[in-house]
Amino acid sequence: LVGQLDWRRPRQLRAHVQHAHRDSHCHFTAQHKYSFDMYAFARRVVRAIPDLINSIGNELTPSAKYDFKFKDYAPWVFRELREDYFQLDPADYLLSLTAKYILSELGSPGKSGSFFYFSRDYRFIIKTIRHSEHKFLLSILKEYYAHVKSNPHTLLSRFYGLHRVKLPRGRKIHFVIMNNLFPSHKDVHETYDLKGSTVGRVYSEEKAKQNPRAVLKDLNWINRRKMLELGPEKRALLSEQIRRDSEFLKTVYVMDYSLLVGVHFVQRGNRDKVRSNTLKVFSPSVPAIRRKNTQHKGARSPEAMAVKRAMRESDPKRLGSDTFNLPEEYTGDRQQFIFYQDEGGLQATDEANQATDTIYYLGIIDILTPYSTVKQLEHFWKGLKADRHKISPVPPQEYADRFFSFMKAIMRGGDGGGRFKAE
Ligand code: ATP
Ligand code: CA
Ligand code: CA
Repeated sequence: LVGQLDWRRPRQLRAHVQHAHRDSHCHFTAQHKYSFDMYAFARRVVRAIPDLINSIGNELTPSAKYDFKFKDYAPWVFRELREDYFQLDPADYLLSLTAKYILSELGSPGKSGSFFYFSRDYRFIIKTIRHSEHKFLLSILKEYYAHVKSNPHTLLSRFYGLHRVKLPRGRKIHFVIMNNLFPSHKDVHETYDLKGSTVGRVYSEEKAKQNPRAVLKDLNWINRRKMLELGPEKRALLSEQIRRDSEFLKTVYVMDYSLLVGVHFVQRGNRDKVRSNTLKVFSPSVPAIRRKNTQHKGARSPEAMAVKRAMRESDPKRLGSDTFNLPEEYTGDRQQFIFYQDEGGLQATDEANQATDTIYYLGIIDILTPYSTVKQLEHFWKGLKADRHKISPVPPQEYADRFFSFMKAIMRGGDGGGRFKAE
């Protein structure tokens, strides 16, 4: 099985799940044999579902009995991505995800209505996606895989898994598991979601003053005269990677993605006692999380022990895994990736390539929006009102070029000649 990547078929790891009560033990009846780790994972996902459903629309009552079906899509493809290319330790991944989810406070930060959850240690994000996005990811999975393979330092969202849960009355919830770009051990002092478009791309500075967690946009960046402070070396690397990634996005015909930039000022440190953007927005305070981690509850629970045992039995190569404790601090799994090697991010440098006071947390997110008819319509309507080239929904080719030239222009000393001009 492992030798052959099965791009589309999901059924290999399908489980039929009966769920009696939120906190009670979930009862599984497997229709197919599937791996132990997926079993544990599906069980936890199902446990979190009442939260999810309630937050979406109060559809279920806690006393009802539910039947869920859990699907794992292209399991071997994602497994290879996780383990061979994203260098995730399977035990870390599983333990992190099988701990109880933290329900986001705001639920849904974007306009799309997607919900975001974090794994216990904040390393992973679970994002609910639309069926169209789900289908789209499957349709480009082969290309995505090839891109990741030939671009180990890609800035694109790292997709670790694609799943679906089906509820009793036929309701389906699709979600992806991906990397959280922001660290759990460093405050992110400023957050920007940059698209390279200027029309409407602003967050009220008034509101931003009151809410340091706000996600700011292109015009805030320009008006604040921000730059990505990177010396020639990192600048060249970053701009080359953004170029390749946006070329890829062009070929799969997507748009509407952004470069998410989290800024940490080393001098300011973590004194703010507020968590980085997404964390601050969605989660309870981190001390609670830290406490949980220090207890190593997961590591000692019967479940974790069983996982450990099952993994040892099923795969001798994993024996080398030194610990099953969740990391307290930065875990180091990103160290081999140039853009995530400094405390999980990219340390700013000056013209002499010497480190300065800032760490950036960067990545290209929200990459599952094809230039569909919907966008074409939006393009048409918005295009009537504003300059067609500056609005967000332009065709993928133009979107990518604009995106890349904006990012190049905001790197200090880049070929773009410095500041991006606000029009
Ligand atoms: P919309 O389509 O309206 O833009 P969406 O629901 O698709 O919204 P995203 O654009 O993916 O949501 O993300 C919304 C916000 O969530 C981002 O601006 C960012 O603050 C946060 N976020 C998303 N993905 C990540 C990630 N991988 N790491 C950290 N934060 C993230
Ligand atoms: Ca977005
Ligand atoms: Ca989106």
